[in-house]
Amino acid sequence: MQRVEERAYAKINIGLDVLRRRPDGYHEVKMIMQTVDICDDLMLERTSGPGIQLKTDNAQLPTNRDNLICRAAALLMEEKKIAEGVKITLTKRIPIAAGMAGGSSDAAATMRGLNTLFDMGYSEKDLQRLGVKLGADIPYCIVGGTMLSEGIGEILTPLPAPPKAHLVVAKPDINVSTAFVYGNLHVERLKDHPDIDGMAKALSQGDLQGVCERMGNVLETVTVKEYPVIDQIKNLMREMGAANALMSGSGPTVFGIFTDSKQAQAAAAAMEEHALAGQIFVTGFYAV
Ligand code: ATP
Repeated sequence: MQRVEERAYAKINIGLDVLRRRPDGYHEVKMIMQTVDICDDLMLERTSGPGIQLKTDNAQLPTNRDNLICRAAALLMEEKKIAEGVKITLTKRIPIAAGMAGGSSDAAATMRGLNTLFDMGYSEKDLQRLGVKLGADIPYCIVGGTMLSEGIGEILTPLPAPPKAHLVVAKPDINVSTAFVYGNLHVERLKDHPDIDGMAKALSQGDLQGVCERMGNVLETVTVKEYPVIDQIKNLMREMGAANALMSGSGPTVFGIFTDSKQAQAAAAAMEEHALAGQIFVTGFYAV
């Protein structure tokens, strides 16, 4: 095979809890991940000379080893001692530094693509085991869908997808560092923890209302304090009819869940009118 195309989907966390900080510095999480219909496109092509080349339409992104795509490619090519090279072309749509696992999803797509391109023979489990070395969200991004994610993100349990709904995803024009947010989280001081088990149960009953009632993200305690615009976006989404709205991951992206498509469109328009977010999407859950 000379060339492979892969899609890298963004995720949101419909529930995100942090249980404790481990002695090694990692945080033990309990979260529900959901793929959304916003994606990057990757094209992977064999080259006769050695090396990893990355091209992208987004000038903000590094194209060297600072890009997770190059790190993921190097990891697999070195493991399998591939002498040939690869050229990867990335079309970027997922908001950057947004809490939507854009980089992790690109890395996971790179691993899947290279596995096919060079017939590496890795199983999904192998790719997840290798991917976690580069980032805690990568094991999830290898498979996607609706998952309970525990441990540091490597213990994954599939859940039923939520019932169909309309999503408004809004990324304000600020970039949030995941390291800053986790670094400033005081787990022992958290008063409220989202009911993740209850949310998993609501999913298994196909109860969208039950899911929405239990939405919560403990990382909001850090990011919202720093960036009040997140609360403004959440409030506007609720005023415009969202069943609920929440920050995704470490933020600053906010998503609102709507049962009515017209209300979702109107909420997106209102967000634009109030200039609360530079990137706004009206989309839905993506079932893998
Ligand atoms: P997460 O939800 O996993 O915390 P995120 O959405 O907060 O992810 P990313 O978009 O993955 O964050 O990017 C975070 C940083 O990683 C950016 O500052 C960016 O420069 C760097 N980065 C490296 N590779 C990529 C990539 N392929 N796409 C996006 N960002 C990348």
